Amino acid sequence: MNVDASSIIKIEKTKQSKINEVDFSNLPFGQITTDHMFVCDFKNGQWEQPQIIPYQNLSLDPSAKIFHYGQSVFEGMKAYKDTNGKIFLFRPLDNQKRINISAKRLAIPELPEEYFMEGLKELLKLDSNWIPTSDGSSLYIRPFVFASGSGLHASPSKEYKFIIACSPSGSYFGGKLKVLIEQKYSRSANGGVGYAKAGGNYGGQFYPTKLANEKGYQQVIWTDDTSHQFIEEAGAMNIFIRIGDTLITAPTSDRILDGITRKSLIKIAENDGITVEVRKITVNELVESAKNGSLKEMFGAGTAAVISPIAGFGFNDIDFELPILENSYALQLKKRITDIQYNRAEDKFGWRIEVK
Ligand SMILES: *Cc1c(COP(=O)(O)O)cnc(C)c1O
Repeated sequence: MNVDASSIIKIEKTKQSKINEVDFSNLPFGQITTDHMFVCDFKNGQWEQPQIIPYQNLSLDPSAKIFHYGQSVFEGMKAYKDTNGKIFLFRPLDNQKRINISAKRLAIPELPEEYFMEGLKELLKLDSNWIPTSDGSSLYIRPFVFASGSGLHASPSKEYKFIIACSPSGSYFGGKLKVLIEQKYSRSANGGVGYAKAGGNYGGQFYPTKLANEKGYQQVIWTDDTSHQFIEEAGAMNIFIRIGDTLITAPTSDRILDGITRKSLIKIAENDGITVEVRKITVNELVESAKNGSLKEMFGAGTAAVISPIAGFGFNDIDFELPILENSYALQLKKRITDIQYNRAEDKFGWRIEVK
């Protein structure tokens, strides 16, 4: 389909901007929302005219299927401002494609590509003053689609809402993580929805994560659902493990989300001459490498935190500490990827898209 969505988006600007109420020197992550939101409804078998309206509450029938059957998918992305005030997105077409992969798995109708990209660009232009510029800050963008149609019958909704909301956010650094290798619960299963950014995947993670928190760990390392032998993800991030000078990450599957940060870091690391192995890695190999001293680093990778270094992990009631490195891959790769995102370095891979 080839429509010029920017010309058909109906825009209603806010009468009263909230921007002066925001303390930009002290931004929490994902708590504050901008003046506008993008909304597009699916009704009578089609996506209706997209709109940008003042950010506001929604009104839904209590029988709306989202509440009962969890039909919802989302994306997480960021807009960055460089020192000249230019606005950039990082690989946004990958988010656009992925939300449709997720939607398909949840029997949600796919979004027209132009609505996603043009809606996002128009929204960013309107709320461009909300993109923070302090070090490590960005505008976190949350596109999502959910079943808004009413009716308690367990069947796919006939109506949906696609919304893009934005949140000016400071850098997402939670300190170095202490993680627990999960041996009982699973985030996802073969044939399941683990590869989709489906709302319920995260709801299902909260309880095991809470149990880990109570034991003093900040995050859970997910293992495969059948044997709990293979390391899969770090909370809602992909995982990287450095043994010796080799960087290892699990291959994507039904159970593992195909992260844009992950695949970008693989390319950047290889370009830096780091050996990257995309392969299965067992808990046993991890424990052995920790014992013999070859385990150098572990980190999570995802849009929100970019890279979250892991300080140590617990397994079978034993805690293993990772060494503190001066020249870690985590720091090196984080600098490389954020330099591209914030237009501080050449973008040889063609990932950066200017919004203008
Ligand atoms: C979103 C997400 C990631 C990271 O994906 P990015 O595209 O890098 O942000 C990894 N794992 C899970 C489970 C996720 O939901």
